[in-house]
Amino acid sequence: MQALIVVDMQNGFLRHGNLASEQCLAVLPAVVDEVRAALGAGHHVIFTADTHEHDDAEFQIFPTHCIRGTGEADLVDELASFLGGETVHLVPKRRYSAMFETELEGILHRYAITDVRICGVCTDICVLHTTADLRNRDIAVTVVANATATFEAPEHSAEAVREQSLAHMAGILGATVERSTGAVGS
Ligand SMILES: [Zn+2]
Repeated sequence: MQALIVVDMQNGFLRHGNLASEQCLAVLPAVVDEVRAALGAGHHVIFTADTHEHDDAEFQIFPTHCIRGTGEADLVDELASFLGGETVHLVPKRRYSAMFETELEGILHRYAITDVRICGVCTDICVLHTTADLRNRDIAVTVVANATATFEAPEHSAEAVREQSLAHMAGILGATVERSTGAVGS
């Protein structure tokens, strides 16, 4: 069984708060297309959602974001509308990897998911760490390059960091990186 994992396409990364990023917002249409295609093909769709407590350790590294119960933790409206479908799942997470102390592993086992497409944000953080944990379990991963993004910040060039991360996922983690012009990697 195949699934699409959509990483952290939330208001707190796209529209509101300390970490909202126009680079991340820009891939929303491509992500919506991915979700429609997956559901149309009968695949499961798993949305992850960064969901923090006020005193989470991650705030020693990043500014406060996506606190449980705030609008920042909600999926953006364009994707929240898909919730409730029989094959649609929402996985709250509190670290970079969506595999860490979440329901994701149980969902993968229950539906015998062996093949994952992954998209969302940020390419170099939660997409990368979730891909690493999927590959540690020998799950095949295809990274949809045109539907992933990361933020622009000083000493964090969005385009350079994104390309480096895609290369790492292909060359080191053994994921397939799918670009609109064709697949790169193994
Ligand atoms: Zn976070």
